Amino acid sequence: MMKSRLAPSPTGAQHLGNARTYLLAHWSAMASGAGMILRIEDVDSPRIKPWATQQAIDDLRWLGIRWDEGPDVGGPHGPYVQTQRIDLYRDALDRLIQADRVYPCTCTRKDIEESGSAPHFEHEGPIYPGTCAGWQRGDEVPPPDTFCWRFRAGTQTVAFDDLVMGSQACVPATDLGDFAITQKNGAPSYQLAVVVDDAAMGVTEAVRGNDLIASTFRQLEIYRVLQHSPPHFAHVPLVRGPDGRRLAKRHGDTRLSHFRELGIAPKRIIDWAIETTGIADPTGDFQWSALNRDDVVVDSEWLAAGG
Ligand code: GLU
Repeated sequence: MMKSRLAPSPTGAQHLGNARTYLLAHWSAMASGAGMILRIEDVDSPRIKPWATQQAIDDLRWLGIRWDEGPDVGGPHGPYVQTQRIDLYRDALDRLIQADRVYPCTCTRKDIEESGSAPHFEHEGPIYPGTCAGWQRGDEVPPPDTFCWRFRAGTQTVAFDDLVMGSQACVPATDLGDFAITQKNGAPSYQLAVVVDDAAMGVTEAVRGNDLIASTFRQLEIYRVLQHSPPHFAHVPLVRGPDGRRLAKRHGDTRLSHFRELGIAPKRIIDWAIETTGIADPTGDFQWSALNRDDVVVDSEWLAAGG
């Protein structure tokens, strides 16, 4: 069975850019008859806002987006919630330790910034300089809360065919560097949780912003070690403000909850998203190959009018 997913991070309000990504996932799933999962990605603990989960659910309902599965909260249609799935991520971490693909890393963000080299991808932090990479399985593990587990990026080319962006390739070791798969408090990072979940939930299509392409290469390496098959990926263009910068507070209030409170009809948002696809009837005849690949710029009049 084909399956897609909506994966909001409750780190803040969902905005116009998120709405467009969710609608594209929804239209693609409708066109292909795929099931839909809602998964709350709340493992990035310091930035999680307690109110943001329910607000994301209300936003999705308001947009008319439906999902079928997720038994953790609220009955059969409640979402999956990552903080309730920690044991699964621990098991996967154990497998990565057994496979000798990770090492404990005690470096601070500042250490890495000071000696890391510039990343080869936009939206990425510095490349890890390898300070702790000499650790071997069997060596002593530092005390809890003083290290994260870091994945050894591979030296072989990793490639995939993106449904929107076409063929993509990089050499993780040199283009991305080793990357953290837990936080220092032991909580799983996004990279690990997303792979474990997409595999466990049988996700066949992952739709997300194209700022995550670099992460996809990392995730493909994790898939390989855990021997799971990855979904098809559709990395969709970002939404930018009139100044060409990524949509943010400076562009005005584009939170979906704000539009809702103003009494704006969800149809306004949906019609805007439809227009930006470049597809005549995305709600009836959706094809990734027809989607406009350029980043979307929201014009200032549209923003000023509150949609
Ligand atoms: N939770 C991520 C976000 O809200 C999406 C990650 C994904 O789709 O893989 O940006």
